[in-house]
Amino acid sequence: MNAAGTRLDVDLGLIRKYDRPGPRYTSYPTAPHFTGEFGPADFLASLESGNGSNRPLSLYFHLPFCAKLCYFCGCTMTVTRNRDRISEYLDYLIRDTQFFARHTGNRPVTQVHWGGGTPTYLTPEETRRLGEAIQNFYNIAPGAEMGVEVDPRQVSREHYQALLDTGFNRISMGVQDFHEPTQKAVNRIQPEAMTRTFVQMARDMGFESVNLDFIYGLPFQTRETFARTIDKLIDIRPDRIALFNYAHVPWMKKHQNVLKEETLPPADEKLAIFKYAIETLTSAGYVFIGMDHFALPEDSMSRALHNKTLYRNFQGYSTHAECDLIAHGMSGISQTADTYAQNTKEYAAYFAAVAAGRPATERGYKLNSDDLLRRDVITRLMCDFELDYDFFNNKYGIDFKELFSDALADLEPMAFDGLVRLRPEGLEVTDTGRLLIRNLAMPFDRYLRESTNTRFSRTI
Ligand code: SF4
Repeated sequence: MNAAGTRLDVDLGLIRKYDRPGPRYTSYPTAPHFTGEFGPADFLASLESGNGSNRPLSLYFHLPFCAKLCYFCGCTMTVTRNRDRISEYLDYLIRDTQFFARHTGNRPVTQVHWGGGTPTYLTPEETRRLGEAIQNFYNIAPGAEMGVEVDPRQVSREHYQALLDTGFNRISMGVQDFHEPTQKAVNRIQPEAMTRTFVQMARDMGFESVNLDFIYGLPFQTRETFARTIDKLIDIRPDRIALFNYAHVPWMKKHQNVLKEETLPPADEKLAIFKYAIETLTSAGYVFIGMDHFALPEDSMSRALHNKTLYRNFQGYSTHAECDLIAHGMSGISQTADTYAQNTKEYAAYFAAVAAGRPATERGYKLNSDDLLRRDVITRLMCDFELDYDFFNNKYGIDFKELFSDALADLEPMAFDGLVRLRPEGLEVTDTGRLLIRNLAMPFDRYLRESTNTRFSRTI
């Protein structure tokens, strides 16, 4: 890791050379490999098999409603002003919560996350209702990390109080950019003062950690405009920062067609923004965690990176390893020790599943022994930024170098370019390589080696 206050230099020549489509590896195998042959009973059986060992739980709640459409949005969400619709969804979500709590015994919950959509589009009363249901049905462990995505345009002191009263201790706020022409172009007007007010209020009221989300690659962004945004961001000094690359996929998200290609920063400008952001944030004392994430040195994410206890799941980097992740709500993806299960994206199908007392699994995947090994390799590589071959030899009874000879051969040109150091006993990712960690993971992905037609976003 870059030590606190140590600037991470970005070599744009190498970034350009390796900028190609690749998975983000929030799962392995990746979601396009899930199938409809895996159903609700498969998921439930796998989930219940963790009850005996009291495996901890991580709970995700998908709250898909928004007041207004941001044109860059890539989430599964619905824009509505119909409060009855939201209330109906909440009723089913609470029934779903009760169902899963009943099927997982008294297992400790170490992590809760509300994502969306806009979770704070619930009223404070609805927020309290859902928060209390979670507290009542599940066994929330002392010190559990409970986070919620907050939209400053749709939040109030009463929301914060309802969240705090029901155990929440972290907020994550979408900002994207402070640059007004960019905000206007993406249909998300969020004055800087509003963001500052709700960050300060969260701190004053006692939330332990504040994360801010930004996106580069949006209309009318240049290195200069984004530099001003980064300066303001450093001044606010959140505990964590997520800096995402805008994925322009109008063939999947039709509303992105509103964003005219000629207003998006050209590739070289986007790379200049990326370089400036990384070098400036790391100079300002942030630790680059990996992929899109930065954290202050004292934050639990930085400590997990340092202690090699970082983990990766559908929410990105996590400090909670070895949990079963249960996704409540439409479209969410659950994960157990050896399965993935994605919920339906249709409201009617979701309501029908909940009413029938079964998981809303629409498709999923059961990992075989090769998948489990490769998932472990890719996870350790992306979280520890090194691999110790003997660790895998002992754990899986394999000869790592022989089994992965093709992957190691693929890494040799990257070692020549200074992205990774290949040693007889293991490999170690360099600082430059950490910016291209997806490229280093891709050679270990069996499905990627065998397929040519899956579309992924670019690695930078
Ligand atoms: S608030 Fe979030 S989920 Fe809703 S449209 Fe905007 S980006 Fe998408």
